[in-house]
Amino acid sequence: MTTTRFAPSPTGLLHVGNIRTALHNWLLAKREGGRFLLRIDDTDEARSREDYVEAIRADLAWLGIVPEGEERQSARFALYEDAFERLKAEGRVYPCWETPQELDLRRKVLLGRGLPPIYDRAALALSDDEKAAKLAAGEQPHWRFKLDHAEPIAWEDGIRGPQTFEAAMMSDPVIRRADGSWLYMLPSVIDDVAMGVTDVLRGEDHVSNTATQVQMFTALGAPVPRFAHEALLVGSEGKLSKRLGSLGVAQMREMGIEPEALIALLGRLGTSDPVDPALRLAELAAAFDLSRFGRAPARFDEQELARVNAAIVHALPYEAVAPRLPDDMDARAWEAVRPNLAHVHEAGDWWRVVTGPISRVEASPEDRAYLEAAAEALEAIAWDEGVWKALTGALKEASGRKGKALFLPLRLALTGMEHGPDMGALLPLIGREAAIARLRQI
Ligand code: GLU
Repeated sequence: MTTTRFAPSPTGLLHVGNIRTALHNWLLAKREGGRFLLRIDDTDEARSREDYVEAIRADLAWLGIVPEGEERQSARFALYEDAFERLKAEGRVYPCWETPQELDLRRKVLLGRGLPPIYDRAALALSDDEKAAKLAAGEQPHWRFKLDHAEPIAWEDGIRGPQTFEAAMMSDPVIRRADGSWLYMLPSVIDDVAMGVTDVLRGEDHVSNTATQVQMFTALGAPVPRFAHEALLVGSEGKLSKRLGSLGVAQMREMGIEPEALIALLGRLGTSDPVDPALRLAELAAAFDLSRFGRAPARFDEQELARVNAAIVHALPYEAVAPRLPDDMDARAWEAVRPNLAHVHEAGDWWRVVTGPISRVEASPEDRAYLEAAAEALEAIAWDEGVWKALTGALKEASGRKGKALFLPLRLALTGMEHGPDMGALLPLIGREAAIARLRQI
């Protein structure tokens, strides 16, 4: 069964980049009727926070992304210890004592000679006595995974196509620190094996990690999952701005972004398929296809998000938004103002225009007479859905006005605004008495 996972570190809130990764993993699993798992990568105990774990769960739930299961790395240390001991016995992990300063110096020397700054495996040359002496002196080692230089590293990337790496051209990765804490690399592989992950879909910043992790899967005697790496996320004008890149889900929710808008936009981000505000999770999953993704940077355009959001708001039924509207605002009122909204919360502003009081716009003497005529006409016109049409029809005939001169003074007097929802839908909501009072400016 296709199994994917989303593996955030709870050291911050989810931002656009993480959401894309989570969503695409969910879509990839669902397309195949498979499982999507959440893995909390909290091996870094100092930087991980419980409130971030809760925020990650809440943000995914808000987006409608429900994991079939959840694991936490901090609860799995015994598993890592086990695998570590096995790899140690097989000579696939080895202890090192170099200080960061030493390593830095060696790197600089190599670079100075025009050579790649690869770890020289000096620690492998230490004798058992030398190692025992260091341990006896209380010097704890950090640990590296020993890449197999004879084993070619190759995978068919779901997005990038065939990938090959030369193990001899890479440093043996540090997998464990001297204090016993884990770096991301090995625990992730151990978990992917234990959780039955079949597909790892993540950002292209992980490509070189994949190269070493491919050998870790093999060293653990496990099949290598399928890998796919998505192109970098960029803003509409180049690099993703700090503000946009770090925008959290809660902030977007406060800004009035609907989850469906993020889903519709991010679901297609990085593909050449058009963004369609009408598409929901299920439809996006049915059409999800890694071969549609390109290697060019994926552009996240905030204006496009705003457009998609508005289109979604314009189609939201009253039942979906009722809890977010003023208490006394009914379905008719929602439908009257909905086409004018960029965000649901703006409905309240228009509702205040309906219920009043509104800001008064001073009319010219000529318009005052016109508005008085309108007030008189309104007293006689049947108060129903057609009232605006009847009113303007009668005024057009009586005053000879048309276009802007006919409509704008009425809109200004009735709403206090130059623009707004269709008056045909708004006027019946305002009510006859209030409308007459507004026209007379009393
Ligand atoms: N915790 C890692 C990260 O956030 C997970 C990477 C992965 O998907 O393997 O970068």
